[in-house]
Amino acid sequence: MENNFYNLFKKVIRECNYTNTYKMAWAKALVEISLEEENNADTVKIDLKSIANKFIKYYWNQTIFFDLIQGSNLVETPLILQYVKKLINDYYSFIKIRKPDRFERIEEYIKVNISKEYNECLENTIKTLKVDVSWRFTYINGERHDEIYKYNKGDDKIEILASNLNILKENYEDLFDLINYRWGLILETFNSSPRINKKVKIIDEQEVKRNSLSKFKEYLDIENPERICFICGKRIDNQELSIDHVIPWSYLYSDDLWNLVYVHKSCNSSKSNVIPSEEDIRKLKDRNKSLIKKLREKDIHGKIVNELNLAIQKDYEYKFWIGCKS
Ligand SMILES: [Zn+2]
Repeated sequence: MENNFYNLFKKVIRECNYTNTYKMAWAKALVEISLEEENNADTVKIDLKSIANKFIKYYWNQTIFFDLIQGSNLVETPLILQYVKKLINDYYSFIKIRKPDRFERIEEYIKVNISKEYNECLENTIKTLKVDVSWRFTYINGERHDEIYKYNKGDDKIEILASNLNILKENYEDLFDLINYRWGLILETFNSSPRINKKVKIIDEQEVKRNSLSKFKEYLDIENPERICFICGKRIDNQELSIDHVIPWSYLYSDDLWNLVYVHKSCNSSKSNVIPSEEDIRKLKDRNKSLIKKLREKDIHGKIVNELNLAIQKDYEYKFWIGCKS
């Protein structure tokens, strides 16, 4: 017979409404904490503070790399996401460069160097959890289920049976799959960017991969041997050479020849993650036509060339541009 707690926990995840992703983050935090806790007592008290810290981590990673929208109300960003976005901006101001990094890798750095900002974000997150999430999570169809965990409105802790925490621990892989899947479904209802599920999953499991783009040089050089900057139109010296995604990587989460151009490092860093103008897209389309022509003249084939050809035929430049604008 399946355990009642486990069924209820999954039911909350499955039946969560689609207004925001708080419940998913909450469920994920509890599963993650179950892996960290050593349970000696019968009941375990979990601090909202440690849950809030996990919220910050999830939203930080999904925002700093992919800028995913986490709520159905597009006018008003969910509060916790607002706090995290502010923290990301504070972090960028402090390091003076917009270089995204995973929260886990810089957590200690943040706590030391922008401790005031971090603590403010943490306190605000705890407040919102109290108002909006901690108690609501135990309600299914308007009915409170203390079997999931005990919580009284306003408390700083939840109280959960150690045996239940162990159930989360034993089933963590299935639960992460379920949570990520639901999280992705919710995000799909208000994000138009491609590869949502992959973005949610990847952020959870491993390093966000940003592959080296140097393999594209041999193709770009064929069309642009002088290495003229796509942004400013001037020649680029070797030490200033970089390859840029015209439609931001954070949106596409993919490296494709049709979307890559040569730019100055300095031109690149001044515009990171900015949505390109229509003029840029027209320029990119022209570039792609000229590029495929030259590749054919030189009789160059292969996967990368086929993908470029497909992109031109399907008008990816324009379609993805429209997508990332909306
Ligand atoms: Zn330039």
